[in-house]
Amino acid sequence: MRKKAYYLCRSQEARIIFKAGKSHDGYFDCAHLCAQTEQAIELFEDNFTSTAVAAFGFDNAPGHQKRAEDALSAQNMPKFPKLWKPGKCKMCNGVLPNGEPQDFYYADNHPTMPGLFKGMKAILEERGFKEEANLRAECPAFTCQDPRASCCCRWILFNQPDFIAQKLALFELVESHGHIAFFYPKFHCELNFIEQSWGAAKYHYHRLPLTHNEAQMERNVRASLDAVDLLKMRRYVYFIQLRTVVPTNSNSDL
Ligand SMILES: [Zn+2]
Repeated sequence: MRKKAYYLCRSQEARIIFKAGKSHDGYFDCAHLCAQTEQAIELFEDNFTSTAVAAFGFDNAPGHQKRAEDALSAQNMPKFPKLWKPGKCKMCNGVLPNGEPQDFYYADNHPTMPGLFKGMKAILEERGFKEEANLRAECPAFTCQDPRASCCCRWILFNQPDFIAQKLALFELVESHGHIAFFYPKFHCELNFIEQSWGAAKYHYHRLPLTHNEAQMERNVRASLDAVDLLKMRRYVYFIQLRTVVPTNSNSDL
């Protein structure tokens, strides 16, 4: 297996040099982002007191919205017991109405169904939905709308508090360290200082002489990123705040 070429300098920065493409490092996905975020958290915690809380803002991109491999999800759940894993690992426990954990798998020493996924029917019965457990697995095209409707097993599970509370992998990671995670608004780069920082770095890069090999290109990339220093980033944040501040003492509806 090809060794990853990107690297992190943990004690100094959380920047990653990632060479995208099939024949290089692959494509930067949510797992890469989580790994980088973990490094950024460590860096923050190494440099600030234990009571300091960081706010991590991310672009609202589909690739950033993945759930953990073992996350709760009613999607694709079979109705009846089956040897089933939604991803590379078993689904984590749910929460019963009494607050107890609910294991979605039969024990490995179960006499007739060792290690099988219980299925939506049994999961609902254990939660007290005895009649609803006999509903069909899913409405046609899963077009259910009303959260209170008891129309199909999947929709009922989909609206269970523990399923609703399932967070994104990125948010779970940040919040597990006691910090705050948020997304910048979609399609509003004027409100996102990350985009402005990228724009400034790209502008700097285009003004540098043409490169003739990978080493020169990497050097220029680093120089362009370094050109967007902390002061510039703070300036972008400041101007965004100026744009979005709404006067609190105004009677205007605007
Ligand atoms: Zn339904």
